[in-house]
Amino acid sequence: MKILVAVKRVIDYNVKVRVKADQSNVDLSNVKMALNPFCEIAVEEAVRLKEKGVAEEVVVVSIGPKACQEQIRTALALGADRGVHIECDEMPDSLVAAKLLKEVVAEEAPQLVILGKQAIDSDNNQTGQMLGALTDMPQGTFASEVVVEGDSVQVTREVDGGLQTVKLTLPAIVTTDLRLNEPRYASLPNIMKAKRKPLDVKAASDMGVELTNNIELLSVEPPAERSAGVKVADVAELVEKLKNEAKVL
Ligand code: AMP
Repeated sequence: MKILVAVKRVIDYNVKVRVKADQSNVDLSNVKMALNPFCEIAVEEAVRLKEKGVAEEVVVVSIGPKACQEQIRTALALGADRGVHIECDEMPDSLVAAKLLKEVVAEEAPQLVILGKQAIDSDNNQTGQMLGALTDMPQGTFASEVVVEGDSVQVTREVDGGLQTVKLTLPAIVTTDLRLNEPRYASLPNIMKAKRKPLDVKAASDMGVELTNNIELLSVEPPAERSAGVKVADVAELVEKLKNEAKVL
């Protein structure tokens, strides 16, 4: 079995995001970038399937500017076998990304494609579903457990208030939820080894896909500043304020 994992370069989740002064976007200058956390979970799951002997090869693909190769190398250090970088100047929106991933799927013919449920930069939660529609492959989204059995994969999905288990005929698409696994840390020797693993670079413009984003970002606003709190002298004052000011009692 070959597994294709799509990984996106995003702002590191530890970074406090700044909005540009003209509110046109998030300020990415001198900001630490990282592998999208849900994509890290996707890589971990693929590598575990390989370690269990279920999969033979794990290929990671990332779409975007040249710097995405850093995140491909991170995924290779976590245990993926080879990388594919689809290079374009701008980060594509979800539909363009899904169309490009469709071409990679056609070329690589994986039995399983694993994506994050969402990228934490735009919070779209769309690419896996769009890829499912474009390729006619069945999809198991928000996976908290993935079990491959013969020519199918059983996916336990986190749905509102419970779990749903679905069985998909391979080839299939899975998107990862937070509780699927806890990704490992890359060891120094594996980081060194990753530098020598194969990484193919292809121009997105050569893939026969219209690259124009159809979504225009109009403005970005930071969350409202929290106003300062007040100190109360005793419980009686607290209850009085909850009753008469906050009106929650
Ligand atoms: P989104 O639908 O944008 O929230 O992204 C969901 C998932 O799709 C991500 O976790 C990735 O697995 C994949 N994805 C989205 N954009 C890209 C990209 N530019 N390159 C590779 N994978 C991507």
